[in-house]
Amino acid sequence: MVDLYVKNGKTITGQSIEVLIDQGKIIDVATKIPGNVEAKKVFDLHSKYYVSSGWIDDHVHCYEKLSLYYDKPDLDGVDAGVTTVIDAGSTGYDNLPDFYKLSKNARTNVYAMCNISKTGIIAQDELGDMTRIKDDLVTKMIEEYSEFVVGIKARISKSVVSGNGVHPLERAKAIQKLNHDLPLMVHIGSNPPELSEIMSLMSPGDIMTHCYNGKQNGIMNLDLHRIKDFAIEGYNRGIIFDVGHGTDSFNFEVAQEARSIGLTPKSISSDLYHHNRENGPVYNLATCLDKMLYLGYTLPDILPMITTNPAENFNLKNKGQLKSGFDGDLTIFDVESKSKVLIDSNGNEKTTDMSIVPHFAVVAGEVYETNLEEF
Ligand SMILES: [Zn+2]
Repeated sequence: MVDLYVKNGKTITGQSIEVLIDQGKIIDVATKIPGNVEAKKVFDLHSKYYVSSGWIDDHVHCYEKLSLYYDKPDLDGVDAGVTTVIDAGSTGYDNLPDFYKLSKNARTNVYAMCNISKTGIIAQDELGDMTRIKDDLVTKMIEEYSEFVVGIKARISKSVVSGNGVHPLERAKAIQKLNHDLPLMVHIGSNPPELSEIMSLMSPGDIMTHCYNGKQNGIMNLDLHRIKDFAIEGYNRGIIFDVGHGTDSFNFEVAQEARSIGLTPKSISSDLYHHNRENGPVYNLATCLDKMLYLGYTLPDILPMITTNPAENFNLKNKGQLKSGFDGDLTIFDVESKSKVLIDSNGNEKTTDMSIVPHFAVVAGEVYETNLEEF
């Protein structure tokens, strides 16, 4: 008797798919599970819904005790069809242990990047004081919470670093080296420091989030409407582009121009926290996906960006794939023909006629219905 039998689903290429999950793990995936399956729960999708590996959102802010960027993991996670969230540096040495404890109450799988500032994001300028960066304290968190901490985070923009330029990023690179080249996510925004300088310090495999922001210090020269040469060079060198939509960091034109010259994101993430979830322009990960669909990305392009790719970027070895032996995490969704207005971070509006709607999140074999408000 297995725990869960997901029956009569379909893949994005229109084939039928069935999945067996037992003790939290996928134990079989087939177009049709043969024989008479005995399961504690049979979940028949009647060929109505698509089934994918559970969606991963690798940039959210979900430590609920902060006062600036905070949320509850399940509001960004299972309620929105996302089975795994990675908190992008809300916490550092001072508050990461408490976040870890709280995260255990969530139905969603929660991981964290440790902020290189010991305070985490208690205020906008967590890297304005270099004495808050203590290599040994970050290392201690990485070692003590190795199941939880999957990377480190450095926010390198004007309001965060104050007058410190790229010095915090240099420290982040040193901390990364001390810790077996753990994944490093770098947030970009307004200058100083200059994006060219930031990207020149980043290595292949480092993750640049907010990659399609519409700021002067972004990847596009806004006057010439042209992607800057150093950004193309950094992309070709292997710097990972992560969407990290956020309140201020996604611009349709930048994303479109990048796509037209082949600079595609490796991962799509939301940068959700309570405010941009409730009031937009982010709302949820699915709405970010709708924007990518609108720009011409197909479902087969998009799905790896929220499953296999983030799992690979953050070394989540049992996640991201619909295969025997992987964690029993699924997202069950539909693509609906309906008119929906999409708004980017600069207030530009586009109307799409196609929308991705998650209906269920399955985490370790437990089925949760999503709870999305209509936007
Ligand atoms: Zn963020």
